[in-house]
Amino acid sequence: MSEFDLIRQHFTRTTRYTELGIGDDAALIRVGANMELAISADMLVAGTHFFADADPYQLGWKSLAVNLSDMAAMGAQPRWATLAIALPAANPAWLTEFSRGFFACADRFVVDLIGGDTTRGPLTISVQIMGEVPNGLAIKRSGAQLGDQIWLSGPLGYAALALAHLQAKIKLDADTFAQCASALHAPQPRVALGLALRGIATSAIDISDGLLADLGHVLSASNLGAKLHLNQLPQASHWPMASSLKPAEQLKLLLAGGDDYELCFSAPAAAHGRISQLGSTLGLPLLCVGEMVAERGLAVHGLAGEMLDIKEAGFDHFK
Ligand code: ADP
Ligand code: MG
Repeated sequence: MSEFDLIRQHFTRTTRYTELGIGDDAALIRVGANMELAISADMLVAGTHFFADADPYQLGWKSLAVNLSDMAAMGAQPRWATLAIALPAANPAWLTEFSRGFFACADRFVVDLIGGDTTRGPLTISVQIMGEVPNGLAIKRSGAQLGDQIWLSGPLGYAALALAHLQAKIKLDADTFAQCASALHAPQPRVALGLALRGIATSAIDISDGLLADLGHVLSASNLGAKLHLNQLPQASHWPMASSLKPAEQLKLLLAGGDDYELCFSAPAAAHGRISQLGSTLGLPLLCVGEMVAERGLAVHGLAGEMLDIKEAGFDHFK
């Protein structure tokens, strides 16, 4: 059973007081006349999402950052977080570093930690995030329109390269590894971009499970298909490992690697100039990589424009 079938079968019920329930990057609840609250939770489990001996500062940063990424994907302003943590032991040095990393991220994005729970158990970190978005302005997975352009907030695959190196599947030189490791351990949630895309983007998702899987969620929610053009991804032609990785393996890391925490969003072609301008203002290398089409499914065109055979879906915890 896939993760998503499991959620659909066991946890999805009709809601009574909810603007948007299970199925997007965050749920939406109306809290006042003009505001909706966006709420999301993400759990990191030692051995599944990180190595048990991971640097605690980076783990603190990342456990909040991945949640902020869901706020970014909704166009929500993150405000409050809760932290539920299971610890094998109360190690003061570890906790000092973990909390320093967590609050570095909280301070950078101006979020308050307002509660949580602490218990003994296998190292597990569960953060819930809450943010605000004016009524009707949240960017949902379901809003993409036929003919919209598909954008990425930055290059993909660096975190997957770092992970492959740590798992001794590939060998990166020291400089390349340093660059890729920072993508893996210290993701930068695209909060400012998400806020700026309110009223411009028709749909958005943050890429946590790989572009193919996450764009796939947008396509099902929006009842559309998409065409992607890899020759519009600059790193596809001069990736650090391009020479020593087989093309199929490269493609797999690039499109299904996961842990990217870049945004994938759609917008009308008429907004192209405005979005490019936004990229310059925010210092983000925004990439237009494809378009929404009526024919369902994902058609991926390679570097020479050839159609690629995409069998590799995103990583799913329960497959
Ligand atoms: P994301 O990758 O943005 O964190 P997921 O793809 O993991 O989102 O989750 C899909 C949807 O299912 C989300 O709306 C999430 O809130 C919901 N969800 C996941 N697990 C549960 C659960 N145990 N109970 C209720 N909803 C869940
Ligand atoms: Mg998400």
